[in-house]
Amino acid sequence: PLFPALTDSPAGSTAGGPADRPALRFGERSLTYAQLAAAAGALTGRIGEATRVAVWATPTLETAVAVVAALLAGVPAVPLNPRSGERELGHILSDSAPGLVLTAPDDQLPAPLRDLARVDVDVHATGPAPEDRAADEDPALIVYTSGTTGPPKGAVLPRRAVASTLDALADAWQWTGDDVLVHGLPLFHVHGLVLGVLGPLRRGGSVRHLGRFTTQGVARELNTGATMLFGVPTMYHRIAEAVTSDPDLVTALAGARLLVSGSAALPVHDHGRIATSTGRRVIERYGMTETLMNTAVRADGEARPGTVGVPLPGVELRLVEDDGTQITAYDGETVGEIQVRGPNVFTEYLNRPDATAAAFTADGFFRTGDMAVRDPDGYVRIVGRKATDLIKSGGYKIGAGEIENALLEHPGVREAAVTGEPDADLGERIVAWIVPDDPQAPPTLDELADHVAERLAPHKRPRVVHHLDALPRNDMGKIMKRALTHD
Ligand code: ATP
Ligand code: MG
Repeated sequence: PLFPALTDSPAGSTAGGPADRPALRFGERSLTYAQLAAAAGALTGRIGEATRVAVWATPTLETAVAVVAALLAGVPAVPLNPRSGERELGHILSDSAPGLVLTAPDDQLPAPLRDLARVDVDVHATGPAPEDRAADEDPALIVYTSGTTGPPKGAVLPRRAVASTLDALADAWQWTGDDVLVHGLPLFHVHGLVLGVLGPLRRGGSVRHLGRFTTQGVARELNTGATMLFGVPTMYHRIAEAVTSDPDLVTALAGARLLVSGSAALPVHDHGRIATSTGRRVIERYGMTETLMNTAVRADGEARPGTVGVPLPGVELRLVEDDGTQITAYDGETVGEIQVRGPNVFTEYLNRPDATAAAFTADGFFRTGDMAVRDPDGYVRIVGRKATDLIKSGGYKIGAGEIENALLEHPGVREAAVTGEPDADLGERIVAWIVPDDPQAPPTLDELADHVAERLAPHKRPRVVHHLDALPRNDMGKIMKRALTHD
């Protein structure tokens, strides 16, 4: 079964046993394993014969119960981002055609969802303990990609992908039923949903969701028994800013078993600031909607700033150059596209046979579109996305990420993004988009160009700088480079 602690410890079993352990807590409300089994059991009956269910994925207990019930019923769940606009929701609904929508009782649903049969999730309902009806290859989740590089596509994730990625992470992180996760992410992407909710439930551990992420909430939970934190770089940025003046936060981070960052590159500057203040290093893992997790720094491994660790057990990972040559000698310099194959990989993009076919190589590897180098000992360093982060300038291939990291070390720079734009001489020229620390006195182009040239190399210096009030980011805090270059 996907969740042994749920289906093997039915409601009403002996007090003090595994069924009485806490499973989920969202704000003030919580469920033990027995209560979660009962609520999910009651809900599976109401999901009935639907072929797919949409889940209005607010950060609530209801969302967690809804997804668990759908998984146990063997009905694929489509998590919806409650902050999506009506156009995006309309696209996802017509693409995925769910039979009904599962939601919290007091939620107001927007127009595109009002025609759909609605089932209000009752987290205190009691039904017969759920059976686990799904098979390994059954689709478990249809998760839409973030839409960072184009319109979101629905990735069909079979149950074996979910199970295998969570077991691989358990191996890498020595993740057990004693772990208590602090969670502050939304529940409509794989990070918050698969890793953040299904992960602890598979292990028999527990989740404490903050509702809204605050550094005080993180400190409070880690100081009262929570053992690990999963976050995105924007959260660690806020932690890096707060940690110098919050002794509770220092104690909390120093005592945590594991601090993990993913979904986007963690700026080296923030990694360093947290390490300096707390003595703890944040470890990174790398994955995506289509493949779940590919690499991670292991719990007993070395957290090197700027690297995402080594391939997880069962994941075959290779780097392939533009001309199709597979990189065999890891020199830490030769850049190739990351391609992966393994039980963690999705089956298809829903209704997109063309996109699915284009995404796989003849020998079954998924083309991630992410470019990377590997160190001699196998550590993967992500250079960036082929589409937006690789700048071809003056005969060089330059990764935006290392320039962003260098810019962020400039005291006058609060946020930075780097893109390329056409240039008659260079092919492409490097453009820096920065949010200055002091908008009255932003650093000049010359200053920033010298700063980068000194740290990296002269050909990596920006030729143009734009000052912004904020960078365009999506709900996961990812920088939307499309919005920078297309406005
Ligand atoms: P879309 O595919 O719709 O353009 P997206 O790729 O942002 O959106 P996700 O599947 O949520 O959608 O994100 C996966 C991507 O996030 C990866 O392909 C990679 O580019 C990036 N990513 C994830 N983890 C890391 C990490 N630790 N370091 C750097 N980049 C990361
Ligand atoms: Mg993607």
